[in-house]
Amino acid sequence: MMRIGRTLPPAAAPIYLRDIFSGIKGLVNSKKAVLKITSELKDHFQSSHCFMLSSGKAALTLTLKAVSAMAGNEQIEVVIPAFTCYSVPAAVIKAGLKVRVCDIDPHTLDFDFEHLEQILSENKGRILAVLSTHMFGYPSDVDRIRGLMKSKPRIYLIEDAAQAMGASINSRKCGTLGDVGFFSLGRGKSISCVEGGIILTRDPQIAKAIDTEYHHLSEPEAAETVKLMIYSAILWIFMRPLFFWFPKSLPFLKLGETVFDPDFEIRKICGFQAGLLTNWKNKLLQVSQDRKKNVMLWQRFFEKYHPDNLSWINGNEDLLIRFPVWVKDDGKREQLLLAGETQGLGISRSYPDSINHIPELEKLIDFPECVKASETAYQLVTLPVHSFVLQKERHKIQELLLN
Ligand SMILES: *Cc1c(COP(=O)(O)O)cnc(C)c1O
Repeated sequence: MMRIGRTLPPAAAPIYLRDIFSGIKGLVNSKKAVLKITSELKDHFQSSHCFMLSSGKAALTLTLKAVSAMAGNEQIEVVIPAFTCYSVPAAVIKAGLKVRVCDIDPHTLDFDFEHLEQILSENKGRILAVLSTHMFGYPSDVDRIRGLMKSKPRIYLIEDAAQAMGASINSRKCGTLGDVGFFSLGRGKSISCVEGGIILTRDPQIAKAIDTEYHHLSEPEAAETVKLMIYSAILWIFMRPLFFWFPKSLPFLKLGETVFDPDFEIRKICGFQAGLLTNWKNKLLQVSQDRKKNVMLWQRFFEKYHPDNLSWINGNEDLLIRFPVWVKDDGKREQLLLAGETQGLGISRSYPDSINHIPELEKLIDFPECVKASETAYQLVTLPVHSFVLQKERHKIQELLLN
């Protein structure tokens, strides 16, 4: 069934025509354009070191390679939440390391801390890093995780802030709370340069190790830049709700599909992408305000109506990328997704399954069951909070939820 007409994406970071012009300007002196954004990011995040790469997963892979080079030969495992983006285990594999999954707490979407403690005590000496993940923007308890890691050899706390650029916890900016942190600049994240990733760290040793890896990367190729230019034009046109039905109707674009693929490129960001980010600070501020407002409206709605068979995270105003809702009843969930689809309301599933059930990984690794993560992947539906959501669309979704 194909929908023609205004259709909301589940999440969207807009690219404007003026960004594309700035991108083209960035091409004139690529090195300078990249340096400019990098130094603005360092300033903003009060972070002494910053690296910009071709994607969030590339940023994570490089980070893992760097800390792996600093650690002992036995330290080869990376602890990740069992409910997260499939790119995360892909990056671990790409870095030549081993995935260890930890179940989650559905009330916070953070680690199940009992399970995390068990993992850390049973695998002493083998754990290289723990990925503290701000899922959808809900804060991960970085300090509590750090408290569990005070052992020798050093375990690195990597902050996966892919979905939390612009968010902060007790006035401390997400992305700067771990030993090293990263953001994603993909199209469904906070701000976008088609695809990209940012690494931040204040640790001079980690920075030096990343720098070594970074210098081995080849310079951006012209053909790749041309591809990105075409893609940015496509996103400029088609990410807008008025036209989003079109790319969504093309199955080969695989929009909204989650695939596990450790075979990806790791590149430096190019001048065009750096140029696309020229106005990043204002854009981040603007989209954050819009999303905060929408999140608050969803929270008010749920607190007021307590719709049957639905649960949500009853928190304060958070800067989320999508608003997650657990729909326990299979019939109601299917109905909601179908109605959302036919009416183009941006209601969507999150990840198809927990990480321990990814078939390609299950073959390689003997994973424990992560019941809460699997259940969350199965039951979770997300509501859109991005800048394009109109009041009448929110009302339509609310009607569907109360049905
Ligand atoms: C998107 C995402 C990533 C990977 O970022 P890409 O830029 O898509 O490679 C990593 N972790 C989380 C939690 C994400 O949402």
